[in-house]
Amino acid sequence: MMDEFELTDQQKAFQTLAREFAERHIKPIAAEIDRMEVKMGLPNFPWDMLREAHKIGLKTIAFPMEYGGMAADHLTQVIITDELAYVDATCAKTISQCWKQPQYIIHFGTKDQRDRFLGAMRDEPTYMMAGAITEPDYGSDNMLPYEEPEGGLKLSVKRKGDGYVLNGVKHFIALGGAASLYIVRGRTDKTVSVRKGTGRFLVPKDTPGFSVTAQHDKIGFRAYPNGQLAFEDVYVPKENLLGGKENYDVSGGPLAGWNELELAATAMGIARAAFEAALDYAKQRVQGGKTIIEHQAVAGLLADMYMDLQAGRSLVWQTARIFSSGRRDTKMSMASARFATKVVLKITTDALTIFGGMGVMKELPLEKYVRDTMIFTHLADGPARQVKAGNLLMRPE
Ligand SMILES: Cc1cc2nc3c(=O)[nH]c(=O)nc-3n(C[C@H](O)[C@H](O)[C@H](O)COP(=O)(O)OP(=O)(O)OC[C@H]3O[C@@H](n4cnc5c(N)ncnc54)[C@H](O)[C@@H]3O)c2cc1C
Repeated sequence: MMDEFELTDQQKAFQTLAREFAERHIKPIAAEIDRMEVKMGLPNFPWDMLREAHKIGLKTIAFPMEYGGMAADHLTQVIITDELAYVDATCAKTISQCWKQPQYIIHFGTKDQRDRFLGAMRDEPTYMMAGAITEPDYGSDNMLPYEEPEGGLKLSVKRKGDGYVLNGVKHFIALGGAASLYIVRGRTDKTVSVRKGTGRFLVPKDTPGFSVTAQHDKIGFRAYPNGQLAFEDVYVPKENLLGGKENYDVSGGPLAGWNELELAATAMGIARAAFEAALDYAKQRVQGGKTIIEHQAVAGLLADMYMDLQAGRSLVWQTARIFSSGRRDTKMSMASARFATKVVLKITTDALTIFGGMGVMKELPLEKYVRDTMIFTHLADGPARQVKAGNLLMRPE
């Protein structure tokens, strides 16, 4: 266990809480839910873990006090995420998604929307929210807005009476099929860019015309569902238009960088688990008449893993400190996500190497670490993120 960061007593208490929670409610199920078949109905979703998280306030810990939370800042979130992801990244991501998605309502919703939907998150143990942006033909164009009107998501929005009618398809939506509320981004003005011409609609799961039509089967994060959603003449009353604004550009606001920091912290939790497992193994596995760590090649590999791990952790935790102080430095959060993605991939594959043949056997979690890690290459890094990182550097300070 690493405790190289100077934490306050309160941060240490949250760290202990998360560690004990993961040991008790995540560790016993992690391997099983990873191996189960991914299908409609989500038989592998960790509902009991979620109920337990709700019971101790973990599910809503990042909420304002008035909505039953503890207003946990970004550093506290990173500390908790690190402990949860150390044991299982999918459960960690389920919990951190419960902190992130409601922020749209916390920061941009009306008082009535906050009362209704945050109240439900607080009171109902399995109530969660999903953010639906991506469509089969429009992925990166929503994140790196292509400023021409033809670029970006197309989910159709038509005014009808005192509300709106939605038609279209979303895919890859995290917690799709498990969430109770969908925060759906739709095209409210086709004559301007996606950044300027979209609004967000709050769609409860039982709304007529809304359905989850498929579950995507991924190589990693297998118990963290990604659903395909269909909208067929879904009527949304105007009370469920986020903030009451048809064209609502929320980029650069209080959520900027949140996603990147969340992903970076999750990645570094997996990296720490892989490194510690490899170090322990290298100290007890004997080949050539001595423990394998006494072979310089193995010790050197471990030294490089440690270097990458600590560089990643330092960057991510320092970025979280900056965010917690109130300064949303999105250059740092983007750097954290991209760097964490690179080092976690290297650390987990090197850990596999240190375990030799055992590394690829399913009895051990090593191969799962690598599979879970692959997900970050599609979420937190890649050419579009690199372009976005460059764009951030171009902005005036
Ligand atoms: C595990 C997981 C969870 C997800 N959760 C959600 C969710 O909760 N809600 C949601 O709405 N979406 C979600 N997504 C979707 C995710 O946001 C998209 O996959 C992502 O935006 C990329 O879009 P795409 O898959 O269509 O790839 P594309 O946009 O088609 O990109 C293909 C490749 O081209 C590169 N590229 C694209 N455009 C550019 C450019 N302008 N410059 C340089 N390179 C470029 C990309 O980096 C990538 O390498 C999730 C995806 C995954 C895998």
